[in-house]
Amino acid sequence: MNLGELKWQDQAACKPYPQEWWFPNAERSSHQYAAARAVCEQCPVQDECLAHAMAHEEPHYEYGMWGGLAPRQRRALRRAVT
Ligand code: SF4
Repeated sequence: MNLGELKWQDQAACKPYPQEWWFPNAERSSHQYAAARAVCEQCPVQDECLAHAMAHEEPHYEYGMWGGLAPRQRRALRRAVT
């Protein structure tokens, strides 16, 4: 992976928060996703984050919230644009 490709992550609003908000276990996912989404909505690199996840189909990017969208929302977006 090209490190320059991830430079946008330096500005990620989620950096100071617990990663489990973005990658919750199943039982607490709606509560933690709500907290994560509130941070994502204020993030200056939300578009870059979502584009990065959408451009990579490795399993890592199939989980968790990226760019303010949960996996189910990203799958729906992928279907809508292909
Ligand atoms: S959009 Fe959300 S997950 Fe992506 S970098 Fe910003 S805060 Fe983190």
